[in-house]
Amino acid sequence: MEDTLRGEFMVKTFYNFINSEWVPAISGKTFDNRDPADKDHIIGLFPRSDQRDVEKAVDAAKKAFPAWSNLTPPKRGKILYDIGKLMEARKEEIATAIVEEMGKTMKEALGEVNAGIDMCYFMAGEGRRLYGETTYSELPNRLAMIKRYPIGVCGIITPWNFPVSMITWKTFPALICGNTVVLKPSAETPWTANILAEIFNEAGLPKGVFNVVHGYGTEVGEALVNNKEVRLISFTGSTAVGKRIAEICGKRLAKVSLELGGKNAVIVMDDADLDLAVNAITKGAFTVAGQRCTATSRAIVHKEIYEEFISKLVEATRKMKVGAGKEESTEVCPVINEKQLATIERYVESGKKEGAKLIFGGRRISAGEFSKGNYFEPTIFIDVKPEMTIAREEIFGPVLVVLRAESFEHAIEIHNSVEYGLSGSIFTRDINKAMTAIDKIETGVFYVNGPTFGSEVHLPFGGVKQSGNGHREVGKAAIDVFSELKTVYIDYSGALQNAQFKK
Ligand code: NAD
Repeated sequence: MEDTLRGEFMVKTFYNFINSEWVPAISGKTFDNRDPADKDHIIGLFPRSDQRDVEKAVDAAKKAFPAWSNLTPPKRGKILYDIGKLMEARKEEIATAIVEEMGKTMKEALGEVNAGIDMCYFMAGEGRRLYGETTYSELPNRLAMIKRYPIGVCGIITPWNFPVSMITWKTFPALICGNTVVLKPSAETPWTANILAEIFNEAGLPKGVFNVVHGYGTEVGEALVNNKEVRLISFTGSTAVGKRIAEICGKRLAKVSLELGGKNAVIVMDDADLDLAVNAITKGAFTVAGQRCTATSRAIVHKEIYEEFISKLVEATRKMKVGAGKEESTEVCPVINEKQLATIERYVESGKKEGAKLIFGGRRISAGEFSKGNYFEPTIFIDVKPEMTIAREEIFGPVLVVLRAESFEHAIEIHNSVEYGLSGSIFTRDINKAMTAIDKIETGVFYVNGPTFGSEVHLPFGGVKQSGNGHREVGKAAIDVFSELKTVYIDYSGALQNAQFKK
């Protein structure tokens, strides 16, 4: 790593990680990685790669595949355990990098690193399972079984909002299954990817098994998706980009797993513990500045408690401290970049224009200590109608819309009226309503009396409708994404048998 003089600042230069070597982009170009809490602070210059760098990385991953896939899964698991230990040892350092380049608070960043470490140990253990199945054949003296095999070179494309968990949740199942990886991390958060690459290398991951190519989606992401040697693409990001990737993969029949956007809601029933519900909703809507894929962006509130809910909501939101992620008291961190700030502003304007009532926030914060960062006020719209744009589209900022429900059935109807289906929640003390909601709500993840976020790594994660394409991350389900099944029949009857030719 070299330092470069940029204006008055000495800025570090970072590289791609290809075949266990740190290399610049072939073009020699770079892009800036900036701190969302201080736009003048350039964290580093990262390689602006293109198709040639992707080809180099895919080639390294392809060459590394035979040896890595032939290593037994428990031996691959041992390397994952060592990665987990190193991640634990460097936990604070990784979290600090997340705070600097993504903007979230230290508590949130540490939580994210914990989720990465949990996933590491879970998948390391999977090295001693990777269970297939054995079953009886219809025919005598014949064994039927299903074995798992790796797929080949996997292309992993990740967003910026969870730089560590998105990488680890995809990479560890890919590796334990015997695949090799080319990662394209978000250009907003490239630094954490390099720290992870360092750790993987130090833990003894062989050359070429894990490669990182930095750059932009259209230049590096598309090149990876189009590369015929890449047999699987695992993507997390926006629904629009996910659709484009699915089209390309569809044309060349590559396996593709997509985790996309959300418009997650909490239903608050008239018998709910209101304080608990308000606490969950404010945390879900405003922490990480609403930039979780599982952020709470809608509250659907029963008419009987609507007014009381709103006054408690405003009171709780008023207490939330906006600030830089590095400040211990901060709850609402900066937004990732200027473009996202402008998007949030557009949605706020559209809400006002469509007749929703703005009762809290709604503006950028740029005075005094906030002048250098991308800050936006926690924002609440009430009396929102399900057909309004702010009730349907993912905003990805600290904006909560409140809708009034006439009944339980109406609340479910409003909930399911959006195109997304990632995460949802209901607050109620009525077991019948809770159970009915579990059955009726159209999401891949659902909580009863809890916020819309907080998944655990041993359980599947992902969405329905426009939030994904039917695959699931983490848990055992991730093994299904990153492995191929082979059905095997072993006949020891000494005769040519066929189950279809029945007498
Ligand atoms: P994004 O879709 O803009 O980018 C995601 C990644 O794709 C980045 O690495 C980007 O460089 C790359 N990319 C962009 N265009 C590409 C292209 N044409 N071909 C290939 N790659 C391309 O999303 P983002 O702004 O980084 O992240 C926010 C989005 O991610 C939100 O919609 C959020 O809901 C979603 N998200 C979903 C989950 C989930 O698990 N469902 C988790 C986190 C974030």
